[in-house]
Amino acid sequence: MYASTEATYETAWNSLQETYESHPAAVQYLLETWIRPYKRKFIKCYTDQILHFNNNATSRSEGGHAVLKRNLGFSIGDLKEVVDCIDLMLLNQRNDYIIAFEEAKMRLAHDLRLPIFRDLHAKVTPFALRRILPQWRLLTSNATVLPRCTNAFTTSMGLPCAHRIQARIYSEPPYILKLEDVHPHWRFTKPARIVSDPEVNIPIDPLLLVQNPPIARARGRPVGATAAAARTRTEQELDDSTQREPSQFERVEANLQQRAEQELGQTHRGGRGRGRGRPRAEGRGRGRGRGRGRGGGLSEQQQAPNGEGFFGVFQI
Ligand SMILES: [Zn+2]
Repeated sequence: MYASTEATYETAWNSLQETYESHPAAVQYLLETWIRPYKRKFIKCYTDQILHFNNNATSRSEGGHAVLKRNLGFSIGDLKEVVDCIDLMLLNQRNDYIIAFEEAKMRLAHDLRLPIFRDLHAKVTPFALRRILPQWRLLTSNATVLPRCTNAFTTSMGLPCAHRIQARIYSEPPYILKLEDVHPHWRFTKPARIVSDPEVNIPIDPLLLVQNPPIARARGRPVGATAAAARTRTEQELDDSTQREPSQFERVEANLQQRAEQELGQTHRGGRGRGRGRPRAEGRGRGRGRGRGRGGGLSEQQQAPNGEGFFGVFQI
């Protein structure tokens, strides 16, 4: 994966095939699923042929997601609250970035005070200069026997490799690197972006489209108020947490578990299960039984001929 040349990659791949000769299915899987279709997307010798500015991992987006989750901190807000929270977070991040950017422009780190960087001071970011430093050291420590240039560093980073630095400092005075040796991506002041399509400049603020949802207030006690008050601490913690919702299969398993526990409890109580069923059907003239009877909750087919209710028949 980290092979810097195609030859190194071929050697490593052949070595892997020999090492795992006794596991042909695993080697076949690697070959069919990853190497053949995607090798140009993750083997270093191929990815270094593309300008990627050192963005060769997903850690940046993963870090961004983690920061977002940390800032949200809860999972019960409505859409407007979430949008406002993200908006504030991005604003703070932008302010921090501007401060750090200006500081980097004003201050020159001690390790970067080299004569070859003289034309790049306050014009190129310290991050980029620190990427050039190892190339410079390679040249100064081993000037006569530089390995053959693969163009990988300059092509992927947009920065001068040891060979280009060598060509520059031995070519003409003042023997220093020039601004054109560095890709505009690394400069503090980037060339203005040319926008050819005027429609791109139309100001669109999608945040203005997100508003709080209207809240309808019903008369009387809110539905589920007593149930909410009786909720367990664990349920409330889950609501306030950022844990994922249970999957469908987890809900089904929980229901099955609950039902099994109920049936087990009824079996232990012996004949009480049937006995408890009767008062519901027989007592339809009062309390809960009356409500079911009036509302038509039990149809003629659901009721047993002897007058027992639905639950009286099946709850055994
Ligand atoms: Zn080179």
